Amino acid sequence: MKHKAVTIDGPAGSGKSTIARQVADRLGFVYLDTGALYRAAALAVDEAGADPADGKACADVVRHAGIELERGRVSVRGRDVTEAIRSHRISSLSSRIAVHPPVRDALLDLQRSFREKSPLVAEGRDTGSVVFPDAEVKIYIDASAQERARRRHRELVSKGSDISYEKVLNDLKERDQRDATRSIAPLVVPQHAVVVDTTHLRIGEVISKVLKVVQDKLAD
Ligand code: C5P
Repeated sequence: MKHKAVTIDGPAGSGKSTIARQVADRLGFVYLDTGALYRAAALAVDEAGADPADGKACADVVRHAGIELERGRVSVRGRDVTEAIRSHRISSLSSRIAVHPPVRDALLDLQRSFREKSPLVAEGRDTGSVVFPDAEVKIYIDASAQERARRRHRELVSKGSDISYEKVLNDLKERDQRDATRSIAPLVVPQHAVVVDTTHLRIGEVISKVLKVVQDKLAD
């Protein structure tokens, strides 16, 4: 059975994870973090020693990595990697392997299977355009690169990293560029999506705004 789907896409650091999680909570829907699946895939590729530039080799690893996502915990072959996939290294690597069509294909059925079990709020880069093109509600969250880098830098420093703001900004721009220009499923504003710019908004304001859009659309 195909349940209701709300999609929230946007670039790195736009605040979409926090928003998607809270919106899912308020609606009683499952929260699907598709980025976590790409990150788990990147970790598996890294550990297997596969070449990140070789799409077929990466996809072979991903198909046999036993990636699972349950109640917010991500695992690879039964090992919990929820924290390990949040490193700066894995952020970059995940966007490098995400350019390969066979890798995206290897993760597509897994993402879609969540909607068969329960209504969901999916978050990522192509959830409204490719994964769930018939979603009931589509949101696109944006913010300036500087503001997104500031948020990411604060988050990494709070976890003990000594990375500089400049490096975070440069890497984020590089990742934006890769995500937006790849030939398959690039980051785009999906058709009929409502765009919310969070640069000058507090997270609470954004959540209220998005929740109102979602509730109005679901009531239609
Ligand atoms: O959202 P997050 O930063 O965790 O995603 C990590 C990377 O995974 C992104 O930079 C992007 O390259 C890739 N990704 C993707 N499609 C998605 C979700 C994530 O290509 N739906």
